[in-house]
Amino acid sequence: MRHSARQLSDLLLDWYDRHRRVFPWRAGPGESADPYSVWLSEIMLQQTGTAAVIDYFNNFTARWPDVQALAGAEPDAVLTAWAGLGYYARARNLHRCAKIISTEMKGEFPADPALLQKLPGIGPYTAAAIAAIAFDTASPVLDGNIERVLSRLHAITQPLPGAKPALRTLSLGLIACARPGDMAQAMMDLGATLCTPRSPDCPRCPWQAACAAHSQGIAGQLPVKARKQPVPSHVGAVFWLTRRDGAVLLRRRPEKGLLGGMMEFPGTPWGDKMPDLAPYAPAGCAWRALPGTVRHAFTHFKLTLGVYTGECTRASPIDGIWVQPARLGEYALPSLMRKVAAHVHACVKEPDR
Ligand code: SF4
Repeated sequence: MRHSARQLSDLLLDWYDRHRRVFPWRAGPGESADPYSVWLSEIMLQQTGTAAVIDYFNNFTARWPDVQALAGAEPDAVLTAWAGLGYYARARNLHRCAKIISTEMKGEFPADPALLQKLPGIGPYTAAAIAAIAFDTASPVLDGNIERVLSRLHAITQPLPGAKPALRTLSLGLIACARPGDMAQAMMDLGATLCTPRSPDCPRCPWQAACAAHSQGIAGQLPVKARKQPVPSHVGAVFWLTRRDGAVLLRRRPEKGLLGGMMEFPGTPWGDKMPDLAPYAPAGCAWRALPGTVRHAFTHFKLTLGVYTGECTRASPIDGIWVQPARLGEYALPSLMRKVAAHVHACVKEPDR
C-alpha cells in the first residue's frame, strides 16, 4: 500500500507520542525545547553515542546552566570538563560559540539554519537539527539513524554517501508535514530502537505496512555503504617522567591540530615507523621501556604507543607542569593519555606480568 508523506508522518508521530526516548536535553510532551540544551547536546552527540553523552551533558548544565554562564567559563575548565568525550575541537568551538551568542546575539540562538551554520562548530547537519528540534523549523535532518530508516522505507539501494541528497529530500518531505522537531526525533528514535542496523524489529514498527525494504525482504541489507578505505596504523612513544616526590610531567599540545590545547605526557611524533627516541625524550634520565603498548583508534588512523618511564635527576627547569598522578583527573587529559596513565599504573602494580 502506498502511503503519502502526511500518512507516514501521522503514523510515526503517533508512535513517538507513546514510545519517545527520554533524555535530559529533550523537551517532554507539550513542553518547549530549550535551545541551549539542544545545541549543547547536538555538539556532544557529534561522533559520540547518547549513553556516553548523558553524564557529560548533566555535568555541563550543572556547572554552566545557560549560554552566558558557559561563555564566562575559563577555556581550560571547559576542556577539562570535556576530557574523555574526544574530538576536542568540539569543546574549543563550543566555548567560542557560547561567547558569540552571549556577546553578539544577546544570548539568543538564531532559528535560521543558515545563520546557525556561521557559528563555530555548527555544520549543516547540526544547524538543521538545532533549527528543527529547538525552533520547530522544517529543515532536513539526516543522521545515521534517519539514513538507515529512510533507506529501508524507500528500499534505496544506491550506496551511501552517494544517496545522501535523495535521503535529505525525503527527510525534508516528512519533517515538513507536521511538528518538525518531533518528526526528526521520531525518526532518530525509530532507528535507534526498532529499525536497528542488524535486526530490525519490523512487526513492532509503525511503518511496517509502508516499508518497501520490509516487503521485499531486504531490510537487513540496507543501507548499502560504499567500501571504506583501510585505516592506516601509526606508532610512537610516550615518556612518563617522574620527579622524586612522585609528580609526573605534563605539557600542553599546540592549540591547532589533533587534540589541540589538551594536556599530554611528552612523546615522539606519530608516524609509519618508530622514530629515534633521543631527540624527543626529556634529557637527564635513564629510560625504561614498559611491557606492552597502548592502543587507540582515532577516526582516520590507529595508534600504538610504546611507554617509557624514567625519574628526572636534572636540576635545570624543564618545559611543562608537574602533577601528582592522583590529581591527573583535574587536567584536560584526552582518552589516549588516560590510557597511558592506566597502563603505567597497571605495570607498576604488576611489574612481572
Ligand atoms: Fe525499519 Fe522494518 Fe520499520 Fe522498515 S518496517 S522502517 S525495515 S523497522
